[in-house]
Amino acid sequence: MPLPPHDIMRYVMTNKTQRIFGDESIWLCLTCETCSARCPNGVDPARIIDGLRELSVADGFEATPRSIRAFHQAFLDQVRLSGRLYEVGFVMEYKMRSGNLFSDITNAPSMLKRGKLPIMPSRIDGQKDVARIMDRCAKDRGTTEGGQS
Ligand code: SF4
Repeated sequence: MPLPPHDIMRYVMTNKTQRIFGDESIWLCLTCETCSARCPNGVDPARIIDGLRELSVADGFEATPRSIRAFHQAFLDQVRLSGRLYEVGFVMEYKMRSGNLFSDITNAPSMLKRGKLPIMPSRIDGQKDVARIMDRCAKDRGTTEGGQS
């Protein structure tokens, strides 16, 4: 994480959230809660970072690095279309959105060989319900399903 948790907390305290939104750190946080467990001041950075991700999507998504926006939108689009993550569709959409077309391409043959990249998507039974829920949440937030206003 380019910004460690104590720096993120300092930006929050000084109301400089746009600086945080322009960085990938809050999206790289794994919510392992180590920082929260060890904070000598009883602050819960992991929970705050979780909230910052929500705020970033709602309010600062344009400032978020392109690769992060591409990942977020591609993930949600695939879940909406299949009711689950369809890896091949996700990778293709992510690459188109990010412009990062050829990175990791050498991994594809071995992943295909091991069955890690199913050629055809499989939809869950409740896919339409998942899409309806996502549309409803986006409507309530005043955004599209990818999080943009
Ligand atoms: S929750 Fe874990 S990964 Fe996230 S900022 Fe804290 S220590 Fe880092």
